[in-house]
Amino acid sequence: MISLLKNVELYAPDYLGQQDILIAGHCIAMIAKDIDTSLPYTEVIDGQGKIAFPGLVDNHVIVQGGGGESGFTSRTPELKVEDAIRGGVTSLVGVRGTDGMARDLRSMLAKVKSINESGLSCWMLTGSYQMPVKTLAGSISDDIMFIEEIIGVGEIAISDHRSSHPSYKELVSMVAECRVAGMLSGKAGLVKFHLGDDPEGISMLLEMLRNTSLPSLHFLPTHINRNPGLLKQGIEFAKEGGILDFTTSSVPIFLEQGSALASDALIKCLEAGVPLQNMTFSSDGQGSLPAFDEEGHLLGLSYSTPRSLFQEIVALVKQHQLPMEKALAVATSNPANIYKLKGKGRVAQGMDADIVLASPEDLTITDVIAKGKIMLRNGEIKAELPLS
Ligand code: ZN
Repeated sequence: MISLLKNVELYAPDYLGQQDILIAGHCIAMIAKDIDTSLPYTEVIDGQGKIAFPGLVDNHVIVQGGGGESGFTSRTPELKVEDAIRGGVTSLVGVRGTDGMARDLRSMLAKVKSINESGLSCWMLTGSYQMPVKTLAGSISDDIMFIEEIIGVGEIAISDHRSSHPSYKELVSMVAECRVAGMLSGKAGLVKFHLGDDPEGISMLLEMLRNTSLPSLHFLPTHINRNPGLLKQGIEFAKEGGILDFTTSSVPIFLEQGSALASDALIKCLEAGVPLQNMTFSSDGQGSLPAFDEEGHLLGLSYSTPRSLFQEIVALVKQHQLPMEKALAVATSNPANIYKLKGKGRVAQGMDADIVLASPEDLTITDVIAKGKIMLRNGEIKAELPLS
């Protein structure tokens, strides 16, 4: 299949002006101005008046659904591939949340494979909130080394009432094991840490950054915008080389209780001198959004979707006037680099043809191409969606 995208205003994510993009199979074969239209293309898409940018990388999605925190009826549903497509997301990293018991790794791997079969690209982290880490192949190293889709561990809960409260020594050993397995297999080999509201926050990760030779790319905190104290620690951590992940899904009660929108928090970090390349956005899609009162009673539940990822990028551009190329980086090139997702995160020759088209005025997503396949065309789903 050979397709041609004509006359798009390209953010790769760097701004490259008006370009044509030649797609051969699942790859980008060429980017140039005025590519010959007389060849026998399978399809020519006129992108005049549209912007194009890389398919988004959502690095934190509870793909098989999360464990509800109010009994079995509150379990959240599996990811709908359509939600990812409509949100411009073409690459995902799946994680397990609170429920590391009923949500098993085999069914999660099956879900990851189903997402890949549908035309998107999906990887996963082994384990869940709890330590010791439950694995598929017998150990963290074996999971990363020998299961193609597994690229790290997570999300391990720390500083949270739902955590298994691992010690600093246990965390260092786990990160070191991931790093070695990652080096041997050419994968990221990272540990993703879920942060709760306990006051110690990321102090163990700060200690790891300062007192071990483990590179910061192997231990990533997420939900860093969940309270002001955590964000303050995060700024310190990132200015010393740490990587921060901001959660784009939110509910009003979280904002009332002190969490910040990902867009607001990112701007605060940029103003404080955190390098843009040290920050990523992720949706925490399909995760339950619990709300507790001061005595710990659950007030209510809903669940998030990957669509919030692009909504917060739009907020960066529209509300904070951050240039489009910078706003896009936090959900394209940055996570693709950090998670070592080959062929992802940039529109360039030889990369996977994961491309989103949107209207430049209101940034409505109109078309999505994943690995050269048209998934969304003029707002209509063209992909063959999985049953679940
Ligand atoms: Zn989490």
